Amino acid sequence: MKKVKVYKNFINGKWVKSHTGKTFENINPADTTDIVGKFQLSDERDVNDAITAAAEAFKTWRLVPAPKRAELLYRVGQRLWSDKEQHANDMTREMGKVLAETRGDVQEAIDMTYYMAGEGRRSFGQTTPSEMMNKFCMSIRQPLGVCGLITPWNFPMAIPAWKMMPALIMGNTVVIKPATYTPLSVVNLIKALEAEGLPPGVVNMVTGSGGAVGSPMMHDPRVGCVSFTGSTAIGRKVSAACAPDFKHCHLEMGGKNAIIVMDDADIDLAIDGCLWGAFGTTGQRCTATSRIILHKKIYDKFARKFVARAKELVIGNGLNAKTQVGPAVSEPQMNTVLEYMRIGKEEDGAKLLLGGGRVKGGKYNKGWFTQPTIFGNVTNKMRIFKEEIFGSVVDLIPARSYDHAIQLANDCDYGLSASIYTKDVNRAFKAMRDVYTGIFYVNAPTIGAETHMPFGGTKHTGNGHREACTQALEVFSEWKSVYIDFSGVIQRPQIDNQ
Ligand code: NAP
Repeated sequence: MKKVKVYKNFINGKWVKSHTGKTFENINPADTTDIVGKFQLSDERDVNDAITAAAEAFKTWRLVPAPKRAELLYRVGQRLWSDKEQHANDMTREMGKVLAETRGDVQEAIDMTYYMAGEGRRSFGQTTPSEMMNKFCMSIRQPLGVCGLITPWNFPMAIPAWKMMPALIMGNTVVIKPATYTPLSVVNLIKALEAEGLPPGVVNMVTGSGGAVGSPMMHDPRVGCVSFTGSTAIGRKVSAACAPDFKHCHLEMGGKNAIIVMDDADIDLAIDGCLWGAFGTTGQRCTATSRIILHKKIYDKFARKFVARAKELVIGNGLNAKTQVGPAVSEPQMNTVLEYMRIGKEEDGAKLLLGGGRVKGGKYNKGWFTQPTIFGNVTNKMRIFKEEIFGSVVDLIPARSYDHAIQLANDCDYGLSASIYTKDVNRAFKAMRDVYTGIFYVNAPTIGAETHMPFGGTKHTGNGHREACTQALEVFSEWKSVYIDFSGVIQRPQIDNQ
């Protein structure tokens, strides 16, 4: 039998076993006979060690000039680029998405690393005149200390890099808890940092469950910032844990994203976008398209063509170049998706147009494969309209008019991403204004964010912060306003100069 590799925690620059002495298995969701590796099943003692190391390392890392920190990040970006194919293979094995997409995931990590390295020579603040004579004002960013990062499994390297790189360039140190399903991609990211000379303690990784590792991390008073991406239910817990100490708390949570297709849209273009938006990454993206709102004039034509195209999607192991849709990440995730398929079938008025179950038979029995599933005639009263499914299920929703379509798009607890397909520029601009989300597309699906644009959502998707772009720096730093008085006398603003 093939020997399964055991991976350790990374604390204070060393790969160490957990205090528990226990490990958990990371299993390939496309082939559950394939054990990707064993990882440390850590607890609060390991978290404590990691935070102690990060707090100690912060004393010196914060003083390293930002352009020097950036040089390290540039080298890390290059190393990730050289090892991209191996990292993509590992990622497909551990979470199932197809190779083209896992290459994209690693590329996002590279893009963010380079982008944030650039901030090492920018991180601009303000210099501004004082209202007093012989006085000078400026604002500078200061780091927060130890940042706790809690990340999900659907973007196993990109999201950790989205958080880690801005934290590091700002002079913070990091403790990261990867998702239990995808620790290997974080190990690969950390190995790149280690190989390029990251000082001990600046980045630490502790694997294990959310309750045993994530929870003690977010409650520890030495942690100045928690950045979390995951479900809204857990995000609420993170928010409550951060509140008593007023920690910086950055939450990126669920989505229920809508594409509006108007009667003047290029239907074939919209179908391409909806297929990619709904079934790319097996629907396991926070920005996945899960509601397609169709103007009634094109509803039937769109539905017919869309179902025909979705039927052709190739489902299978993401390591196979022909595969377009991989498995669900795990058995529980598959069961959640199957449960929503059952709920959809029982919703009063909804019509199952395609799929509705598990893919079975032959090689499929080894993995957690669900059918691309389309429900028609969905209304805003239904659970499949309202709740995040996070799988290969999409709704078709008829709309009477443009205004009705906008109302339906906004009729949702989440506000991450939305899109409109139309050739009418006035409508496109109106929709851009009127749909209340953090991300909006015109004539493109709800997925496809780029690292130099702010990323995040409104309502139950976020708590007002944005990831990526320079907005990420706001999460991982605090402003300090500095006044330098070179007049040699006491000067009182708002009093002495009136
Ligand atoms: P999740 O269950 O909320 O888990 C996210 C992370 O939180 C994991 O590392 C998890 O650890 C950890 N966690 C679980 N319980 C915890 C607790 N009590 N205390 C502290 N940490 C805890 O979400 P997921 O299933 O991994 O990811 C899917 C969700 O993420 C979807 O809702 C999706 O929309 C959202 N998402 C949002 C964005 C965005 O940018 N808005 C991006 C990607 C995904 P374990 O892995 O050990 O459970």
